[in-house]
Amino acid sequence: MYKMILNHRKHSIIITCFIILIVILWIFSSGWFGNKLTLVESTVFLMSTSVNVKIFVSDETEGKNVLSKVFSAASEIEKIMEPLKGDGELHKINSSPTEIWWKISPELKTVINRSVFFYENSDGAFDPTISSVKWLWDFKNGGTLPSEKEISEALKTVGLSKIKIKGDSLSLGTNGTRLDLGGVAKGYAVDIMIKILRENSVSSGLVNAGGDIFTFGKKPGGKDWVIGFRHPRSRKTIVLNNISLPAVATSGDYERYFIKDGVRYHHILDPSTGYPVRKCTSVTVWAETAMDADILATTIFVLGPQKGLEFAEKMNNVETLIFFEKEKGVIEHVVTSGVSDKVKL
Ligand code: ADP
Ligand code: MG
Repeated sequence: MYKMILNHRKHSIIITCFIILIVILWIFSSGWFGNKLTLVESTVFLMSTSVNVKIFVSDETEGKNVLSKVFSAASEIEKIMEPLKGDGELHKINSSPTEIWWKISPELKTVINRSVFFYENSDGAFDPTISSVKWLWDFKNGGTLPSEKEISEALKTVGLSKIKIKGDSLSLGTNGTRLDLGGVAKGYAVDIMIKILRENSVSSGLVNAGGDIFTFGKKPGGKDWVIGFRHPRSRKTIVLNNISLPAVATSGDYERYFIKDGVRYHHILDPSTGYPVRKCTSVTVWAETAMDADILATTIFVLGPQKGLEFAEKMNNVETLIFFEKEKGVIEHVVTSGVSDKVKL
């Protein structure tokens, strides 16, 4: 009898302990003790596009403070890299005699050095000195078709190898060369924004600057961030999950373009001709940094599906999905081996 009562007690203690454990687990997972994560989000128009940041934080006020730091860093980068107006660094360089030597900021140095790397490795497909040609096309204001003479004149200034770089110093050389970092600045800004989020102890976030996207951490409940991007013609959204690289960028011929006499003219230009590249309709690139993804999407677009795919396959931690028009109205795609089993279109 005594033994039975003891056994009964033992059972009740075990059951009580079990219930307490469940309650503790539930309290933690549901985010009591101030751990509840809230989504704080903001969208600001910067660098000619809308920049959206989403973070999950335990303190909403603190989260908003972090977002304002992040956006002020992005607008500082925008100012430095603006090529045509304002009192930022690049505009000062672009509007002065080209042979002047400048001591450049670490921001400009990082972006230019990475551009030089991809310029040299892509046979000049990525070339931010395309500027003078790009400005003729004036896509920002709806676009105009320049004359062949205007293009061939402007092409004389193009070639990143014409500019001189020594450590922290840069000169644009003697060919009238100018810089436009529109193919890389947004990606760089995204990386800096992410760095600031991490420095401020944010453990889950997404930055999207007009399709240059970086995500880190998981959403509450352990869910992954889901990223969708546009099919180049059908307006269908493509969603790819389980790609382990944190950054993704897309360059498309549908982003900035105009149609004249039935021909589509868009903003990704072949530095060897000065005309829009016709080989691809859109290129999505996954990489370790948003800057690399941004540059590579433009570079691969210029290289075209075949060379572009080979280029991406050769690089570590780079994947790409390339859409191209095989014949009028027929869109096909190719994809690097690392994501081929994930792309089902
Ligand atoms: P978006 O800025 O619309 O997202 P991309 O990232 O594809 O588009 O970059 C296109 C921009 O890159 C153009 O607006 C122009 O500033 C620049 N650009 C165009 N062609 C080239 C090129 N061949 N090399 C480097 N930059 C380029
Ligand atoms: Mg780009």
